[in-house]
Amino acid sequence: MNDYYGDLGVAQNATQEEIKRAYRKLARKLHPDVNPTEEASDQFKKISQAYDVLGDPEKRRAFDMGSDPYAGAAGAAGFGQGFSFSDIMDAFFGGTAAGGMGPRSREQRGQDALIGVEIELGTAVFGGAEELTFDTAVVCNVCHGDGARPGTGRHTCEICHGSGQVQQVQRSFLGQVMTARACQACRGYGDIIDDPCFNCSGEGRVRDRRTISVKVPAGVDSGTRIQLTGEGEVGPGGGPAGDLYVEVRVRKHPMFQRQGDDLHCSVELPMTAAALGTSLPLETFDGTQDVAIEAGTQPGDVITLRGLGVTHLRTQQRGDLMVHANVRVPTKLDPQQEELLRQFAKERGEERPEARFGRVEKGLFGKLRDAFQAK
Ligand SMILES: [Zn+2]
Ligand SMILES: [Zn+2]
Repeated sequence: MNDYYGDLGVAQNATQEEIKRAYRKLARKLHPDVNPTEEASDQFKKISQAYDVLGDPEKRRAFDMGSDPYAGAAGAAGFGQGFSFSDIMDAFFGGTAAGGMGPRSREQRGQDALIGVEIELGTAVFGGAEELTFDTAVVCNVCHGDGARPGTGRHTCEICHGSGQVQQVQRSFLGQVMTARACQACRGYGDIIDDPCFNCSGEGRVRDRRTISVKVPAGVDSGTRIQLTGEGEVGPGGGPAGDLYVEVRVRKHPMFQRQGDDLHCSVELPMTAAALGTSLPLETFDGTQDVAIEAGTQPGDVITLRGLGVTHLRTQQRGDLMVHANVRVPTKLDPQQEELLRQFAKERGEERPEARFGRVEKGLFGKLRDAFQAK
């Protein structure tokens, strides 16, 4: 009785997929084309026999119940009947067994391309259009993708008679194996261009610089990719163009920081303005807005202007614009100002303020963290 599980290095309860994988892995190492030593050849026979049995659920069941189809057979004699050739072909040639493929088309889909574009924050808020210039492959304007010099044609390949493939007989221990490979004379196309186009050397496409206008939807952020179907490279033989992906990068704005759909900025307030309240004009993406500073505004207070943030990519709703108050305590007081402040403090009974120490407020830490995270 042979030890097929041991030969393939799999467990008794291995799945068919595991068995197949184990066999392919070994076969790639041991196939006579790769490893021409006698030892490898013997090993290869062994694993192929093992796979012939274990790879077939019917035979495997019989083997598990104690019946070995190769028991007593001298080596690989008679081996091969019912063997799955397509598995072998898959494992070694990466293709299919002879026949059934036909010539390949000269026309192939072009590659996708990825380019970057930098936009202003204002474009992200409302959306807009950006001009993009890039190098790509376009259809040859002399042969219009055909590859032949205008007025000339193609003739059927004499080597493969138009099939694009040549059959090959390989000898192996399994006997003769027919395989097909692409015809080298016509590179698998089945025909040959009589007189290749001088502009594209028969490729049907040339490299060129294109400029297009890209519609940028509102709400995009750095890293967003916009897919433009059919704006990528034209394929060989004038084949359909691939897609163009445009990756957005939003330029840093001198004043507004974006966080999700919200915009943040700060406003510097003299202590007096924070205490007395005022109104200040702010240049937003929606024009000049009055920011109302309430009397008694504290450092870190946030004034929210609803709906003046970034448009959401999907919902089309807009975030808010948040103004963070930055209260400045006056320094470099002249004698008169100092006197006024002293009087003010006296008025409020704050000449010797109460000692009120305490824990750092959670909010303060949070604000610091937010400030670092904001883009
Ligand atoms: Zn051409
Ligand atoms: Zn050919």
